[in-house]
This record gives sequence, C-alpha cells and structure tokens, in this order.
Amino acid sequence: MEDRITHRTNNKMIPLDVLRGIQSTWTHSKGDADYSVTELLSPPKVRALKIINKEDITEDYSDSIATFIGTSIHKTIEDANKDKDDCLTEERMEVSIKAGDKTITISGTVDHYHTSNHLLTDYKTTGAYGINYEKPEWTQQLNIYRWMFSKVKEKEMPDAQIIAILKDWSKPRSINSNTYPPSPVMVKPIANWSEEEIIKFIMERIALHEKAIENPQEILCSDEERWLSPKGVYNRCEHYCNVNKFCDQYIGEKNGE
Ligand code: SF4
Repeated sequence: MEDRITHRTNNKMIPLDVLRGIQSTWTHSKGDADYSVTELLSPPKVRALKIINKEDITEDYSDSIATFIGTSIHKTIEDANKDKDDCLTEERMEVSIKAGDKTITISGTVDHYHTSNHLLTDYKTTGAYGINYEKPEWTQQLNIYRWMFSKVKEKEMPDAQIIAILKDWSKPRSINSNTYPPSPVMVKPIANWSEEEIIKFIMERIALHEKAIENPQEILCSDEERWLSPKGVYNRCEHYCNVNKFCDQYIGEKNGE
C-alpha cells in the first residue's frame, strides 16, 4: 500500500528550477515491500489516514524542503564513497517475516557500511540543539537495519552509529559552551538490541499498523508522535500533518469534544 502524495501546490512560489531539484530527489520507493522501515516507525494513524485518503491529500512544495536538503546531503556522501573499497553505500535490503498468518516484507536502505569494522552508519541532517536529546526512533531504526543487514548478508549483526550533520551549527555558540555541540558533525553510537528485542519490536509495529488500517480513528497518536511542545502546542497536528483534516482526534479537540 503506497502513501505517496499525488497533489502538490506551490503556495510559496518556489522557482521552477528549484522545484525540479526537489522532484529529482523523489526516487526512493519501497518496491513491492509491505513496509519500509521509515513507514514502520511512522505513526500508524498518520500512515493509515494517508493511504485511505490518498486521492484527497495535497502537500505544498515548501513542506518538502527539509527532506530535500537531507536527501541532497545523503546523495553527495554516497557519490563520494560509492567506489571505495572499505565500504558499501546505499545498500537496499528486503526481509520477510511471519506475522500471524501473513508474511510481511520490510524494505530499508543502509546509508553506509564500513567493511573493516562491521559498522552501519545512518546520516541525519538535523538542528544543533536536537542532538542533545534522546531520539528513540534513531535507536529503533538502526536496530532494525542491523537485523535486516545480518539476514541479507548472513553475518553477525553489525554495530551501528548515527552521523549527525548539524545544518544550523554556529561556531560562536560552540565556544565556551558545555551544552552546545562542539562540532557541526557529531557521531552518536547506537545501543545494540538483541535479535529477540528487535523482532518483538517489529511485530508490535506491524500489529499497530494493521489495526490502524482497519480503523484509523480507533488508534490515537501519542503526544510524542504529535510533537507536543513545552507550550502545549501539538506542532505536527497544527503544521506538519497533511491528514489533519481527516483526523477525528485532532478535529474533535479543535471542536472542544
Ligand atoms: S492530526 Fe495529529 S493526531 Fe491526527 S493523525 Fe495527524 S499527527 Fe496524528
């Protein structure tokens, strides 16, 4: 089931040459897989509402800029490393798993694998302050990749790390600060889960998504999934969720229900 957006607007009047650049980065597809790893980790209610209302969803090009920047950086690093002997780049993987009476196929792409030290790397383009916070979704994603990689390559599960590229890093702020990141490129090791923990987590995510597809309004997004700010604003619902007009949870709250 695809959840790709079919209708686009250009309300911010982004010039055509830049629009073409944005469009050229829309190359990733999960193929015939049931879920990409990104989808598996996404809020089940959001994914289900996207699939069910696919024909009626519109997204503005300006909402694609963060993804465009991230994808462009990935592509540049990939191009610079793809012929090197010490690594594999953009390794696409597909693994099937039994979930009840169904066989579910999951796809994912590892950004970089260092052959000599058996280490997976995922690149993240993020804000400087974000790096100080725990990101459970990074640990979840990389552990699923570790498991998939071990299945596809028939090897032990590798270690994993994030290399975060801090797009708004400020040199002056980094001076004499104990909390601000000291470098615009930070390496974060990922805690290894056991195979049992990874499979259990995957099965829980599949079950949630399958339930959401059957009845999306019965599943609720959590405060974390809704990006609740310290000021009490659900930032994702308000500004970044292109299915909010189909969402009972959001509309109900707006109407004071
Ligand atoms: S509007 Fe908010 S609660 Fe509704 S699907 Fe989107 S993120 Fe979830």
